[in-house]
Amino acid sequence: MTSQCLFCRIAAGDIPSNKVYSDDDVYAFRDINPAAPQHILVIPRKHLSSLNDAGPEDQALMGKLLLSARSIAQELGFADDGFRTVINTGEHGGQTVFHIHVHVLSGRHLSWPPG
Ligand code: 5GP
Ligand code: ZN
Repeated sequence: MTSQCLFCRIAAGDIPSNKVYSDDDVYAFRDINPAAPQHILVIPRKHLSSLNDAGPEDQALMGKLLLSARSIAQELGFADDGFRTVINTGEHGGQTVFHIHVHVLSGRHLSWPPG
């Protein structure tokens, strides 16, 4: 928990969010500015600034994030229609919040490649 970090504070419940999933390692909530009809952010409770800061000790946690994204897609009913998982990293990746998060987007056909 980093007290200055927005997503650490959201995971801790200090800042309100629209929660969709929570366990000891992972917290998931709806994006405040959705880019698709379904837009969920899946984050580890552990503070990691970005994928650049994940190390070998985070291997299981990174796997859990991705499988949590899949489970959430199933629970919310859009797994079979399809969805997109995205991790933006650093400036060129378009990252704006420096606590690693997996975007889960669905509910419309998503174009490719991204802008
Ligand atoms: P990034 O640009 O870092 O990949 O994604 C950050 C995401 O966090 C953006 O999609 C943005 O809308 C979302 N976001 C930023 N602040 C908040 C907030 O306070 N609450 C929620 N639920 N989402 C946020
Ligand atoms: Zn954090």
